[in-house]
Formats: sequence, structure tokens, C-alpha cells
Amino acid sequence: MIVDLVKEFSFEAAHRLTQVALDHKCARLHGHSFKCEVAVRGEVDPATGWFIDYAEITEAFEPIRLQLDHYYLNEIEGLANATSENLARWVWEKLEGLKGLHRVTIRETCAARCDYFGE
Ligand SMILES: [Zn+2]
Repeated sequence: MIVDLVKEFSFEAAHRLTQVALDHKCARLHGHSFKCEVAVRGEVDPATGWFIDYAEITEAFEPIRLQLDHYYLNEIEGLANATSENLARWVWEKLEGLKGLHRVTIRETCAARCDYFGE
């Protein structure tokens, strides 16, 4: 039995996009209530009835959340061009030790998200 376990986290942060036209709205400094979903995929252990403890995902993400929450993302090493895509990869790279890491999703708004699968 293979399952995806998903946890959603949130953080507030500012950014601007550096590779868009100057009159593009995202070129201006602005903020989002970002959502980040972390999904792990793996086989359920028949003895325990679970794949991993959800708390392992939370423990892995918490140091990342502390680096992002209420910061200007463009000033963080590796996020000079703080698109959702680059942020998803940045989070993935920080989570690479997490068992079964399958997907990192970044939501800037309710209607727009980036899913990254590590490729
Ligand atoms: Zn934005």
C-alpha cells in the first residue's frame, strides 16, 4: 500500500521578480501569505499502519519556515530571483534528507501554485 502524506505550512514574506518587465506588477516589491505543501510518498508499514509520522515532516520544515517567515525572500542566498519555481526548488534542496520526499508545492495565492517533483 503506497500513500502520499501531505502537510501544509504557511509563512508571510515579501519578494519581487527581477526578470520581468519593469512595468510588470510582480517587479514591484510586494508580499504574500505563502502556503507550502510538502508531500512524501512511500509504503505503509503493516505493523504500524503508517509510512512516517507527520511530525517528521513538520520537524524537517520548521527550520526552513524560520528562514522564510517575515523575510524579504530576494535577500536569502539562492533566492535572488524569488519566483515560486525557484522557491520550490530551494525548499526541496533543504528537505532532501526527508524520507520519501515526493513533492514541494508553493502557493502564492489561492489560485496559483507551483508543484515541484525534484527534476
Ligand atoms: Zn508575488
